[in-house]
Amino acid sequence: MKFDADILIAGGGLNGPALALALGDTGFKVTMVDALPKGARGGDDFDGRGYALALASQRLLAALGVWSQIAADAQPLLDIRISDGRPGEGPGPFILEFDHAEIDEGPMGYMVEDRFLSRAFLSAVEAHPNVTLIDQDSVVAQEVAPGSVTLTLASGKSLTGRLVVGCDGRRSGTAERAGIGRHGHDYGQTSLVCAIDHALPHNGAAHQFFMPAGPLAILPLPGRQCSIVWTETHEEAARIHGLDDAGYLDELRPRFGSFLGDIGLAGKRFTYPLNLTIANSFIADRLALVGDAAHGMHPIAGQGLNAGFKDVAALAEVLTQARRRGEDIGRLDVLERYQEWRRFDVAQMVAATEATNRLFSNDNPILRATRDIGLGIVNALPGLRRGFIREAAGLTGDLPRLLQGRQI
Ligand SMILES: Cc1cc2nc3c(=O)[nH]c(=O)nc-3n(C[C@H](O)[C@H](O)[C@H](O)COP(=O)(O)OP(=O)(O)OC[C@H]3O[C@@H](n4cnc5c(N)ncnc54)[C@H](O)[C@@H]3O)c2cc1C
Repeated sequence: MKFDADILIAGGGLNGPALALALGDTGFKVTMVDALPKGARGGDDFDGRGYALALASQRLLAALGVWSQIAADAQPLLDIRISDGRPGEGPGPFILEFDHAEIDEGPMGYMVEDRFLSRAFLSAVEAHPNVTLIDQDSVVAQEVAPGSVTLTLASGKSLTGRLVVGCDGRRSGTAERAGIGRHGHDYGQTSLVCAIDHALPHNGAAHQFFMPAGPLAILPLPGRQCSIVWTETHEEAARIHGLDDAGYLDELRPRFGSFLGDIGLAGKRFTYPLNLTIANSFIADRLALVGDAAHGMHPIAGQGLNAGFKDVAALAEVLTQARRRGEDIGRLDVLERYQEWRRFDVAQMVAATEATNRLFSNDNPILRATRDIGLGIVNALPGLRRGFIREAAGLTGDLPRLLQGRQI
């Protein structure tokens, strides 16, 4: 059998390149296919999309050799402040505050813009001797045979490997073609996403204001800029998105408050309808799912990409160890180790995100009082607070080696 690569990756968004580099570094030959032209996400325009990366994710990027390209444009997250708010009243007093100085490891994480992350991944992928990128082509079919899997691309090209990994996002065709169903639901919410300029320094603090319709996250970027993830009902989000820039800012100001002084828009505005979509299995014969293809979740805790990077680190470690033992990397019993490692963690994260969204995205006075008392207790107990800070930094649980900043 002639193999084009050991591992074929469908999807070259963010988890695809991270996985390609992790596998390429341990000697696997990898071919990654993406529908978009390369560089489509790494242009010079500031498009306002940014990710709150946990410290563990930053360690993975450092271990993959891409952090040095990103570091100068990343904003350390020094403080996380959580408060209740209502439109027109601005944020209330903080109910919970996490300060990175309470743990020894440094900042809890970093805010990184999509364009810098995408650009760093592209140059590392193109320079890697074990990774081949095919852009502007789509996977349209996949066929599993004993010992191999073959992908057919829209261009008519076909690629054969020992394993295919679907990194093709929330509507994963890789999962669908393998007959893997999904479960989840629509949250009835849409996130409005934009970047803003502001007059006063943010001092590295991220804010989450819990409004009755959904959270408003204000995430610091370098300089006097923040990335905003502002969640409303679908109808309200459509109305606000339909306003001109001045009208949009008029809606944002009373929710935002005045703690950063005057605010203005610093780029394009986006909307993301929110739904939960979890694959019923993360694996099948000669197939694994990673990132949003396995689990698309609510952005309330900013954990989507962090969870994807955990999948990347776990799968790369399982496959590398399997090859060292002389095992066939596409076999179900090998892939089952990856699924076992990740499924429980993902289920826990989804349950926590669901509970947080239900508890906070409403105006029920009993629920408000209960959660404020609960959070007040967490805030008053330094040991418990440190636990939450380590959790936010991604430093808890059974961490794969790359998330500890170590090579596999
Ligand atoms: C509003 C919002 C805010 C968020 N904020 C955060 C945050 O602060 N922190 C965080 O950790 N996460 C955050 N997330 C989550 C994060 O954006 C996602 O988890 C992450 O982008 C998923 O990356 P991915 O590579 O799995 O999928 P994607 O980025 O969706 O990439 C999929 C890729 O697959 C390609 N593709 C699809 N089908 C095919 C095909 N048939 N053939 C070839 N290529 C194909 C597409 O072109 C695309 O490039 C947020 C999400 C939202 C909606």
